[in-house]
Amino acid sequence: MTRSEQLFERAVKRIPGGVNSPVRSYGAIGEAPRFIEKADKCYVYDVDGNRYVDYIDSWGPMILGHNFPAIRESVIKACENGLSFGCATEIEVEIAEYICERIPHVDMIRMVNSGTEAVMSAIRAARGFTGKDKIIKFAGCYHGHSDCLLVSAGSGVMASGVPDSAGVPKGCTQDTMTAVYNDADSVEALLKEAEGNVAAVIVEAVGANMGVVPPKPGFLKRLRELCDEHNCLLIFDEVITGFRLAFGGAAEYFGIRPDLVTYGKIIGAGMPVGAYGGRKEIMDLISPCGPVYQAGTLSGNPVAMAAGFTQLKYLYEHQEIYKELEAKGEKLYGGLKKIVEEKGLPYQVNYNSSLASIFFTDQEVKDYVSAKTSNLDLFAKYFKGMLKRGIHLAPSQFEAMFLSTAHTDEVIDQTLEAMRGALGDL
Ligand code: PMP
Repeated sequence: MTRSEQLFERAVKRIPGGVNSPVRSYGAIGEAPRFIEKADKCYVYDVDGNRYVDYIDSWGPMILGHNFPAIRESVIKACENGLSFGCATEIEVEIAEYICERIPHVDMIRMVNSGTEAVMSAIRAARGFTGKDKIIKFAGCYHGHSDCLLVSAGSGVMASGVPDSAGVPKGCTQDTMTAVYNDADSVEALLKEAEGNVAAVIVEAVGANMGVVPPKPGFLKRLRELCDEHNCLLIFDEVITGFRLAFGGAAEYFGIRPDLVTYGKIIGAGMPVGAYGGRKEIMDLISPCGPVYQAGTLSGNPVAMAAGFTQLKYLYEHQEIYKELEAKGEKLYGGLKKIVEEKGLPYQVNYNSSLASIFFTDQEVKDYVSAKTSNLDLFAKYFKGMLKRGIHLAPSQFEAMFLSTAHTDEVIDQTLEAMRGALGDL
């Protein structure tokens, strides 16, 4: 028995499913998860002494690679002054100014502790600002586990959401409408049906929680127009894309201005942080200056802010990183696409800059329904084949691969060889 297997045996007795977040489970693979002991640059090391090239990157924040020296040092330095005060600090002002002065659609920002909190709070702000109740989300987009967003996704539009989780009362999802990703007409139909009662349309500008599904040309622009026509807000959930596609996230990358934006993990460089921000007249409604209540004892925690601020400054001052990530993405994911074509396999490789997924289906993957046509048994075999070859992927078809600047050309070549081998074994 490996140490990971031993730990998993203990873990399942005391932690539901043996993991503190279901995405870590290897349930779909039928194995014990690899328990990670440490990480450095593009590698993670498990408790059995195996080294893997890591494409999870803590689900995004390790955009500069694991254990980046300047970030580590800023955290150690912050710790010397104490871990938390629950009071206002200078660094919170600095990081807020830094972001607002550099991202044109963010006039004001509020720090929270997770992506879930960021989205939940942004939606409350949108409802408070517009005085409307309904929201439109897209099937296959994930926005955290707050009640009103845990809506089951059907194959078409749904005017009233059905909870996707036990423990969520019907009343919590009845105002959540579900549209089809990459289909702006489905949004228009819902907006008409709601007769002016939609507070916001929320979207992952690049779908990354049904596997990676990039927006079709014109889709996001049309969403902006529809929101303007129907007097509702456009929220970009940039928990994955913020500071990754560009410093200004997907909004900058695609040239669309959202009214509100939500950030997550990247803004804390791996510490538990989230944030939401946007137009001043909306953010002015947040407590204590306005009637929309939102709070958090540890929000803006000084250690988390130190990590995040160091990373944000580094990213802004080295914006060539975004070209580098785009080029690495082209090399790795474009290379994977070529392997698939050379082998005559009917699979789909979707990618946008540093984010990608391979889907084991012969259909174009453009929304949740087409993503779900992927053969999950083939995914599990591919995943195991990659792990055997020293490559650590997310253990689910419906997650993304994350490249960092620490993935060197040599590592990318090794990964392509592993992909060739793993696909050959299927
Ligand atoms: N929004 C998106 C787009 C996400 O990908 C996630 C989580 N990966 C969340 C929100 C929720 O973030 P958290 O897990 O930090 O609560």
